Amino acid sequence: MPTRKIVAYKPLPSDVEAYLRTHADVVNVDPKDHAAFVAALKTADGAIGASVKITPGMLEGATRLKALSTVSVGFDNFDVDDLTRRGIVLTHTPDVLTESTADTVFALILASARRVVELAEWVKEGNWKASIGEASFGVDVQGKTLGIVGLGRIGGAVARRAALGFRMNVLYTNRHPNEQAEKEFGAKRVPLDELLAQSDFVCLQVPLTPETRGLIGADEFRKMKQSAILINASRGPTVDEAALIEALRNGTIRAAGLDVFEHEPLAADSPLLAMKNVVALPHIGSATHETRHAMNRNAAENLVGALDGTLTENIVNREVRMR
Ligand code: NAP
Repeated sequence: MPTRKIVAYKPLPSDVEAYLRTHADVVNVDPKDHAAFVAALKTADGAIGASVKITPGMLEGATRLKALSTVSVGFDNFDVDDLTRRGIVLTHTPDVLTESTADTVFALILASARRVVELAEWVKEGNWKASIGEASFGVDVQGKTLGIVGLGRIGGAVARRAALGFRMNVLYTNRHPNEQAEKEFGAKRVPLDELLAQSDFVCLQVPLTPETRGLIGADEFRKMKQSAILINASRGPTVDEAALIEALRNGTIRAAGLDVFEHEPLAADSPLLAMKNVVALPHIGSATHETRHAMNRNAAENLVGALDGTLTENIVNREVRMR
């Protein structure tokens, strides 16, 4: 049997790369060199990476390709139907990043409500000359109503923090009920309009799909409380960013805590960056040493399992029959 070839289109921790090398030849490519990346895929059995759109065109002639492994839970960079038609298994890394990402969401909730970033910058600029007054006050988090749009794995971990740690009321919108969250955290499933009208914090944790693209736009901001804070750590395009900028400018909502943006990296001249009531993070949802390592390891094991035909979980397109 010829040696298998795996294309790694992101840098991997050395122990994870060493693990892959015990199962295949590993070729490292920089996806910015698009031509070299596409050429490498043509002779690869599998590929592992993240944060790069993989279009059907890039897979033309990649006849050996049996599995793609994304180092992420979200798989909006792939055309899943096209992969299924080609018989390519797509794997992802749910669960290992759930808690770290929920921590990031909560950091955004607290930072936005208590104006942590704005006031920390103010202190660093040497402005703290006397006790602060009302102009620097924030709003409470504990006891408030949190609306989670997309209460799945990460949304559930956010709901746990909110209900058990901060005694918040949790509302959510999903296509299906999440009975565990209802039982354990008192989460109440409501239509999106009701969630928008009642929530003090509206937190998006849906996957990016044709259905969720632009889910929150001008109409939705108008339905929110004027005192509401929007938190987005899902994917940037779930929110109409131009409408968000308008809503923040006009005081339609109070503030936003954002880990993701329509275009990343966010342009340095984005109006969002000039707004004191915006906390902007550089897509750090899962970005801790421990979690990123666990994701890389998980993705490498997924890839080897998919190529061996032994993988039973973390498969996006189960319809593909593994060999
Ligand atoms: P998950 O367990 O699949 O949860 C997603 C939830 O969204 C499900 O409860 C699903 O419920 C709901 N949903 C899907 N489509 C919906 C729709 N059209 N309307 C309303 N609800 C909908 O996924 P997860 O592991 O929590 O991850 C969620 C997303 O977070 C990922 O897809 C990724 O894009 C994002 N993420 C971001 C970061 C970051 O760095 N910022 C890190 C990790 C993940 P129903 O199926 O019942 O509708």
